[in-house]
This record gives sequence, structure tokens and C-alpha cells, in this order.
Amino acid sequence: MSMLTAISGFALAMATFCLSASKGILRALLSPYIGGRVARYQALAGYLVPCLLGFLVIKSIVSNQTSFFGVFVIGVCWFILIMAGLSAFVTELVDEQRRDTLNEMTLMATTDELTGLPNRRTFIERAELELSRTERGSPDLWMLMVDVDNFKEINDTEGHAMGDKVLKIIAQTLKSSIRQIDAVGRLGGEEFAILLPDTPLEGTQRVAESIRRNIESEHIKGWTDTYGAVTISIGVAKAVPNETFQSLLNKADEALYASKSAGRNVVSFY
Ligand code: GH3
Ligand code: MG
Ligand code: MG
Repeated sequence: MSMLTAISGFALAMATFCLSASKGILRALLSPYIGGRVARYQALAGYLVPCLLGFLVIKSIVSNQTSFFGVFVIGVCWFILIMAGLSAFVTELVDEQRRDTLNEMTLMATTDELTGLPNRRTFIERAELELSRTERGSPDLWMLMVDVDNFKEINDTEGHAMGDKVLKIIAQTLKSSIRQIDAVGRLGGEEFAILLPDTPLEGTQRVAESIRRNIESEHIKGWTDTYGAVTISIGVAKAVPNETFQSLLNKADEALYASKSAGRNVVSFY
């Protein structure tokens, strides 16, 4: 193969590439991003290196130096290996970034940014899963609606940042007051909800009361010393078979309203 044939072959290949540049492999090859850039270098090297090696082989045949064949084979093997390794490295790098971004986005979509608790949507998904289990006859499922008492006062007196700090502390206290199999989420504002699956009435009463007490005895720097304890009101409801999330929430909310009417910082059952 003469040099002229090689060059014209290359030009012809490039021209063919350009005919369908917006599709499939060619589109990837012409991409301005890392995959395309690496593929272009590889395409160039994949053309030049075999040409050079082929040229050396022909030269060695002409001058009867057959010992070059071994070097040729090893050279080609290494070349293919390096190309494959480079492709794998870049693919892994890009895929790692994609996985990280996906994890980050999933976390953002499922978690409440301020408190780190599951957000409303995630909590509803979990509740619906637990509700579907109660339909199949598993033991009692309870929902606790938690609302911070006079929370507006905290914002109005010490500012929004203090309000946020209180919400974070309450979230952590709620989380540490329940079992691993229970669930807690922030429904919005200063309202949280808790699910207690497989729990008898006495257990639920005990947990609700201990949550109320734990929040009441929490020391919040910059607030408790001057203004007294931060308290919560709790409304509790038990799921009945075929209950929807909304109807269970309404029942817990009604119980919560009773707690507020009873003077706050109390637990009421529906
Ligand atoms: P009650 O005892 O009846 O529950 O009274 P409350 O003051 O707690 O209830 P209200 O609904 O009047 O006030 C809730 C306040 O919570 C109003 C809103 O500005 C505030 N809030 C909602 N979300 C956030 C938040 O993410 N951060 C802060 N700092 N405040 C919030
Ligand atoms: Mg509220
Ligand atoms: Mg409130």
C-alpha cells in the first residue's frame, strides 16, 4: 500500500464519516465532550500507528530482517491494550460522575434540605408501603402528627435562623426517639410525622409521651435559657385496614387539633 493510497483512504473515510455525522457512533465521535475528544485521538492513533508499523514491516521484508515481526506483533498488542485501557478509564470516569450526580439528585429529591429528614413525598411513599402491609393483616400501624407549639414566636422573637436551628434540633430528637423500623419525615414548615409499625397501643403511648418529653427537655442555646422550653403537640391515629394515607393523616391531624385546644405540649389519640 503506497502512502498516497493511505492518505486518500483516510480522506475518503473522513468524508464518509461526515455524511452521517449526526447519528450513532459518529455523533459520539464528533462530540465536543470528553468521550468525543478521546475517541478522536484514538481514531487518529488507530490510523497512524498501524500505518507506521505496517511501513516498518514492509521495510523489514524488503531488507530481509524478519526478526522485526515479533516486535510488530507485540507492538500491535500493546497498542490495542492501551487504546482499550484508555476507553475503559474514560468510560469509568464519566460513569462515576454520572453515578455521583444521580445519587446527589436522588438525595435532594427525597430529603428535606434543612433537617436532613425524609421529605413529605418520601414519607408518603413509606406510609403507603406500611399501609399496604396492614391490608395483609400485619399488626398495628400508628401515625403521629407533630407540630411545634408557638413556633412563629421563635421566628418573630429571635429570627428565622433561630427558627431553623430549633427545627434541626427537633428533627434530630425525633429521629433519636424512635426505633430503626419506625419512620419520621418533615411534612412541611414546623410539622413532622412519625410512623410506628407493628406497635401495640401501650407502646405507642409510651413512645409518643417520651418524644414529647424529650423535646421539652431539650436545651436550645440562645432560646431555652431566656424564653423557656420549646414544646410540641402530638396527634396520634391508628390505621384501619384499607385506609388511605390522606385519611390516616386527617385522623392524626384531628387529634393534633385536640392537643392544641387542650393547651399544647400534650399527646392526644384520635
Ligand atoms: P401553633 O402552636 O398553633 O402551632 O402555632 P405556631 O406559631 O407554631 O403555628 P403557625 O402556623 O402560626 O406558625 C408556623 C410558622 O412556621 C410560620 C412560618 O413562617 C414558620 N416556618 C415554616 N417553615 C419554616 C422554616 O423552614 N424555617 C423557619 N425558621 N420557619 C418556618
Ligand atoms: Mg403548624
Ligand atoms: Mg405550630
